[in-house]
Amino acid sequence: MHFQAITLFAEMFASITDHGVTGRALRENLWRFNAVNPRRFADNPLGYIDDRPFGGGPGMIMAAPPLQAAIEHAQANCPAAKLIYLSPQGTPLTHALVQQLAQQPGLILLCGRYEGIDERILQHNDISEIAIGDFVVSGGELPAMMLMDAVLRLLPGVLGDAQSAVEDSFADGLLDCPHYTRPIEFQNMAVPEVLRSGNHGLIAQWRLTQSLKRTLARRPDLLAARALTPQESRLLQAIQQEEREFPLE
Ligand code: SAM
Repeated sequence: MHFQAITLFAEMFASITDHGVTGRALRENLWRFNAVNPRRFADNPLGYIDDRPFGGGPGMIMAAPPLQAAIEHAQANCPAAKLIYLSPQGTPLTHALVQQLAQQPGLILLCGRYEGIDERILQHNDISEIAIGDFVVSGGELPAMMLMDAVLRLLPGVLGDAQSAVEDSFADGLLDCPHYTRPIEFQNMAVPEVLRSGNHGLIAQWRLTQSLKRTLARRPDLLAARALTPQESRLLQAIQQEEREFPLE
């Protein structure tokens, strides 16, 4: 997959291109990345690409002409790429959306700064707006990297063990189960016996029960949105029965 970021701060993307599983996957050519700086397309020698907002008010707005030129430059690099503007006003990023994005041949990620971008960029282009949460950060670069990392984890070969992404929270509509490693004892807390039993059937059932318990306690909306298998229904009924008999304080 070919990712392109339209950004004033290309160097920020070293976090994802140079480190961890995403860095290794880039070195193995499992994905491609380039940044396009809209300053290249500024109409002034100092490279200003922002201006004051019409109507007054605080802050600066990224101007349409250099952004449009940067978008068209990125589209020429990868004509089939999907164009995305990272925006707090966009569709919330979810696992389902990440799965859809992972099917694309390329993504062009427009990263806003200041008070945002000239609205006419959104009107003129076929562009999806995506938000990483109901809060505002200073620029689109961190949201873009979060989106990239989430998509990259789903691409074949990026994770050392592809099963990891399948077992992560949200992948099957549930939260992940708790995990433990050595030592067996820590601060008077032992790793659950069943995980040390070597009985893979029991371990799988314990993990599924824990996932259901966590999802019920922390994100019941996920359970409501998902059809349960017969085994999950049985386990969930047992969990709810236990909670009725032994309610937590
Ligand atoms: N004035 C804008 C508003 O309230 O909608 C916020 C501008 S914000 C300071 C600057 C840039 O950061 C935005 O143009 C956008 O690219 C990015 N950004 C901020 N919060 C974001 C979020 N929750 N999700 C995605 N992008 C975000």
